[in-house]
Amino acid sequence: ARKFFVGGNWKCNGTAEEVKKIVNTLNEAQVPSQDVVEVVVSPPYVFLPLVKSTLRPDFHVAAQNCWVKKGGAYTGEVSAEMLVNLDIPWVILGHSERRAILNETNEFVGDKVAYALAQGLKVIACVGETLEQREAGSTMDVVAAQTKAIADRVSDWTNVVIAYEPVWAIGTGKVASPAQAQEVHDELRKWLAKNVNADVAATTRIIYGGSVNGGNCKELGGQADVDGFLVGGASLKPEFIDIIKAAE
Ligand code: 13P
Repeated sequence: ARKFFVGGNWKCNGTAEEVKKIVNTLNEAQVPSQDVVEVVVSPPYVFLPLVKSTLRPDFHVAAQNCWVKKGGAYTGEVSAEMLVNLDIPWVILGHSERRAILNETNEFVGDKVAYALAQGLKVIACVGETLEQREAGSTMDVVAAQTKAIADRVSDWTNVVIAYEPVWAIGTGKVASPAQAQEVHDELRKWLAKNVNADVAATTRIIYGGSVNGGNCKELGGQADVDGFLVGGASLKPEFIDIIKAAE
């Protein structure tokens, strides 16, 4: 069985004081055990050491991006090796905000995923279509192309979680219906079975992101192929604990 996964993507939010408050709230929360749910929170880079050193040990941390070379003259970038050096186990790659605003292509995201995995990081790889693409009926073509760029470069999927995040659902309050999420997750799993192999399709967690909150998480999480969530806005609030509890 695939272990439920709940990620909190804090994006570019928070002050040191706010971060301490969020960590305190998480540390005091009563949630299902690590055998039932894997919880990973992703603060901005500058807060990673603070969160890592103060967060309860059964919750883990992720960076929101990393670079594709060991280091050197890449001003503003942080290498996968640096994350490994600080014992940061996870990284989010290919978030739609980076694809759209920072012009990250499918190929570049695929390179990043392969590089991060090779350094020993675990990766939350994001895919998802825009509203325009959905309305044009190309959702699965878009998601398949994004996934193919990863599959072309990665052979061991053990440390990959795929986050399906329809762009039209991110930060909009317009959550995908449970049926809409299930449909894409199911097709994505079939794509993996056909283009990678049956074992990877059966074991890789496919989590949903986009306007997940305390009210809608239970029904979404109950879908057969929805193995958890990547939560944005609600991950900054105590409500995140209710979302973790949707694992039960
Ligand atoms: P929201 O939960 O704020 O819609 O953001 C989702 C997201 O982008 C998580 O990576």
